[in-house]
Amino acid sequence: MTAFAPFAGERIAVAGLGRAGLPAALRLREWGAEVTAWDDGAAARDAAERAGLALRDPADGPLRADALLLSPGIPHLLPAPHPAALRARDAGVPILCDVEYLYRAVRAAGSAARFIGITGTNGKSTTTALVHHLLVQAGRASEVGGNLGPPALGLNMLGGQGSYTLEMSSYMLERLASVRFNLGVMLNISPDHLDRHGSMAGYVAAKANIFARQTRQDVAVLGQDDAFSTGMAAGVTAALRPISGLRAVPGGVWAEGGRLRDEAGPIADLAEAACLPGSHNAQNAAAAAAVALEIGLTRAEVAAGMASFPGLPHRQERVGQLRGVAFVNDSKATNADSAARALASYDRVVWIAGGIAKEGGIEALAPLLPRIARALLIGRDAPMLAATLAAHGVPHEIAGNLDAAVPAAAAAALAGAAPVVLLSPACASFDQFSGFDARGDRFRALVRAVIADQEGRAA
Ligand code: ADP
Repeated sequence: MTAFAPFAGERIAVAGLGRAGLPAALRLREWGAEVTAWDDGAAARDAAERAGLALRDPADGPLRADALLLSPGIPHLLPAPHPAALRARDAGVPILCDVEYLYRAVRAAGSAARFIGITGTNGKSTTTALVHHLLVQAGRASEVGGNLGPPALGLNMLGGQGSYTLEMSSYMLERLASVRFNLGVMLNISPDHLDRHGSMAGYVAAKANIFARQTRQDVAVLGQDDAFSTGMAAGVTAALRPISGLRAVPGGVWAEGGRLRDEAGPIADLAEAACLPGSHNAQNAAAAAAVALEIGLTRAEVAAGMASFPGLPHRQERVGQLRGVAFVNDSKATNADSAARALASYDRVVWIAGGIAKEGGIEALAPLLPRIARALLIGRDAPMLAATLAAHGVPHEIAGNLDAAVPAAAAAALAGAAPVVLLSPACASFDQFSGFDARGDRFRALVRAVIADQEGRAA
């Protein structure tokens, strides 16, 4: 049996050997490519060398390669092009991402597996995880990855009945050459990453690549809740499926009165989907339902999958429940905008917040502050947050760190202040943690300890 070698004879320079780069280099070599690997960091280079990869700096002299696989985190244009990208441009060599090679390999294997690409400024990870969950719960083969979870070239090969459910960042979307998404999803667009894309127009153009190369046989699921997204419809060739978290959209899927529906009738009751709170999640759910129905899931399968969706860690994740008080970990909310989504999802909360504040602090939360029964503040900018809360008459105290804040918040909530303890810090975590995930993990552990302690007392 001859080995599967779709890239035999292709010279691929891989630059950036992080989470996705190293597995990509190894997989491409396995699939016949002549791979050279590089990272500007010595530790990553050492790891590649230990894995038996040939090291070569693509910025060192003219680029002799058929393609440059450049990590999405490394800019090719703005704010300043990486030297490897300049070499690629000089040599007329395409700059690609790993999804391009997954797609080529799957098609070279003769598989018609479906490619589902999901993008948007917010909600990508949630929607990607939800689509995957709906498919798997309905007994369909789905491999999930991309920007979320395993990198594209770490996924398994699928036959024609399977689906690749891929979260696509704008950085990845700029580095595709032949990928045609059978289902492309564009959730929403608001200003973000402008340093990288140069302008709002540049950012929108990058996002619009989710629908590039689609034909009439394909489907474009397009959010209708912001003008940048609706403006994209004009450039779509595929069958358009509008979605909205806010209002009826003819021919599409939308949320209305807490229910997901389309023109044929109700699909799912979102009140039963405990891990999809808030109108922003209604938008994500509408998109996921549109994809699932398109693939042939029944309405009952969609409803059941929504209800059993466990949510994603650190994004309004329910980590515990005690005597009517829910503990919610929204550590991913590293700015006021994200924290606003979480606060808007609950009528009354005990709020834990703080860390390194973003520009503007928490002023933008003013309309939501009346929902806060009490705030426990942590981290470097606790005094600054305290000043804003004081100005709005919100009861608060500076707890300093999470270890002090969680028991204090639990005590306040259990004494009747509010039915929810919400960690949604509106701040970066780097003053006290290695990242938002470490902060959320600590919160989860502290909540479990408080619950175990209280239950021990009750017993
Ligand atoms: P992304 O992968 O695009 O960063 P996530 O699904 O990880 O998005 O959600 C991150 C945060 O963004 C959530 O905690 C929530 O506050 C907010 N969010 C999620 N979905 C949406 C949406 N459809 N519209 C606006 N904000 C959203």
